[in-house]
Amino acid sequence: MKTCYICKGNVELSLVDVEVGGVVVKDMPAEVCSRCNEKYFDTRTASFIQEIAGCVAEKKKEFLIDKFKTAYEVKGAA
Ligand SMILES: [Zn+2]
Repeated sequence: MKTCYICKGNVELSLVDVEVGGVVVKDMPAEVCSRCNEKYFDTRTASFIQEIAGCVAEKKKEFLIDKFKTAYEVKGAA
C-alpha cells in the first residue's frame, strides 16, 4: 500500500473526474489519498490531461479569433 506524499495517509487507486480549463474529464485513473483527497496521476495520465488542457486552450483561442473576425466583418473593416 502506497502512502500520501503530503499527509502519509492511505492512497487508493480509483477513477476521478478532473477539471481542465473548465472542461471536466471523467473517469481518469488516479491514486487518491483517503485522508486529504490529494490525487496522484501516473505519467501517461498526467500527459494526457496536459494534452487536453492544451486542446482546450487552443479551442478557446480559435473561438476568440473567430469572434473577433466576425465582429470585424460586421463592421466592414476587414
Ligand atoms: Zn494525503
